[in-house]
Amino acid sequence: MFLKGTAVSKGIALGTLFVYRPNAAEATESYCQDGEKAIHVERFALSGRTAIEKLRQVGKDLPENEAKIFVAHEEILADEEMEKEIIELINKHNYCGDWAIHTVYAKYAGLLQSVEDPLIRERAADILDARDQLLAAWSGKERRSLSKLEAPVIVAARDLFPLDTATLDRDNVLAIVTEAGGGLTSHAAIIARARGIPAVLGVPSLLERVTDGQTVAVDAFEGEVILAPTPEKLEQYEKRLEEWRRVQKDNLKYLDAEAKTADGVRIDIGLNIASADEEDLRGVDHCDSVGLFRTEFLYMGRSTPPSEEEQLAVYGKVLSVFNPRPVILRTLDIGGDKTAECLELPKEDNPFLGVRALRLCFTQPDVFIAQLRAALRASVSGQLWLMLPMVGSIDDIRLAKHFIAEAKDRLTSEGYPVAGNVKIGVMIEIPSLALIADLVAKEVDFASVGSNDLCQYCCAVDRQNADAAEYYQPHHPAMYRLLSQVISEFNKAGKPISICGEMGGDPLAVAALVGLGLRKFSMGLSSVGAMKRALAALTVPKAEELARTIQGLTTEAEVLRHLRENLAN
Ligand code: PEP
Ligand code: MG
Repeated sequence: MFLKGTAVSKGIALGTLFVYRPNAAEATESYCQDGEKAIHVERFALSGRTAIEKLRQVGKDLPENEAKIFVAHEEILADEEMEKEIIELINKHNYCGDWAIHTVYAKYAGLLQSVEDPLIRERAADILDARDQLLAAWSGKERRSLSKLEAPVIVAARDLFPLDTATLDRDNVLAIVTEAGGGLTSHAAIIARARGIPAVLGVPSLLERVTDGQTVAVDAFEGEVILAPTPEKLEQYEKRLEEWRRVQKDNLKYLDAEAKTADGVRIDIGLNIASADEEDLRGVDHCDSVGLFRTEFLYMGRSTPPSEEEQLAVYGKVLSVFNPRPVILRTLDIGGDKTAECLELPKEDNPFLGVRALRLCFTQPDVFIAQLRAALRASVSGQLWLMLPMVGSIDDIRLAKHFIAEAKDRLTSEGYPVAGNVKIGVMIEIPSLALIADLVAKEVDFASVGSNDLCQYCCAVDRQNADAAEYYQPHHPAMYRLLSQVISEFNKAGKPISICGEMGGDPLAVAALVGLGLRKFSMGLSSVGAMKRALAALTVPKAEELARTIQGLTTEAEVLRHLRENLAN
């Protein structure tokens, strides 16, 4: 069977499918004694209440469209017909409660799976999800994770949260396929790319069509998933996999090379990281800096925020590993698609336009100050460049600087040393800031373009929404106009300017941006080899010529065509 989705992290994979149900708990065939029946009925009722309570807790912080699914699960858990059948199996046939739950839910899911209408079929996946939550409550087991897998697998899931992707077992995940959509710059997609894991998102009705353990081929160039491929198809995919591995190996040869253009202009390559883990720090020998440390991942998957001491240990490690090269540590950028249970986030209809990132830090000064203190205390271990996300005005910069100064003063009065050369910079990811880049350059020590959000806000399109992906246009002429202005104002002011969004790892964009005068790029490790290779084939005059031409073009399609035609190598 052939399924289609959106390819968000390129690659090919062949292997066994693992259907990831984070809340799954196993139930095996088992029966109880007559005297135990009442206990099983009572425990079933309690599990239902616990599961519903948990759903409400998680759902309450989500925007309405995402919370919908929890409401659907709650309705299923409260379904009287299924409840009656489960109690009957316990009372009349001595089923253990969990086995009764498993049996009844499987029956109803099976009935729906055989219906033609895809909308009704989708309800089967909801029933199985609800069952998993009920069984998890029954067993008292915690949510499963993808961080430790026993063998290499292709992961199929309804959805993956940024935390799932950030912590997954890199050695054993061959590819990711999900039912939920996610644009190219959704955080699940970004992390899959940074880890070099092929990913296809937004495959309709995926979970109803796949089974654990079946053989699957994934083409994450075309967004195709082939279930139980025929021997001919299998052979075809084995060849493609081999070819893909060969290209990757060739790119790896460039990892150690100095990053420079064919005419010898040195380009600074930064690394995007999300933790101080070994996996993230693997790129240390191949990059000139950490161009973006997404610190918010430290706050995910836990019930209390990381303490100042805990953060100090993480930041200190990264700073000392990279010393004397700079580490751009971005302050907490939570909100939008990134949530953290340990933080109270406002419930908003438009979270990407709401109180996220720096705005949230302003409303939660204790959280912000704890992070700033940890970062400033770590500054003595290396070269700290502090970067503020979601800055929309000079007011934001001044207020954030006020917080930083206060944190510094307090530390000094408490006797903690703070390095004297800490730089303060901003992400340029809101058009209002890009348009006053000349003023911003006077206010900060450096800036880095967050092209993922800049594109989202410039083109007015949700970066997460796979259905609106055609409107998400990083190569839109408007983007290059904004970027041209930002780069030239910072270059004029003699202040460092870089780009750390996904455009920074896209060889087409990089060629145009070198032409616009940009010399600093930051990307996930999996892009570094390919980027150094692309730079080695580019000269600055050619890049300038490209930049000049695309500025006269009218649509993204024209820009892309021109770049592709002139950069084919
Ligand atoms: C960006 O917006 O481009 C960026 C680098 O930040 P994030 O993707 O984490 O929002
Ligand atoms: Mg951003």
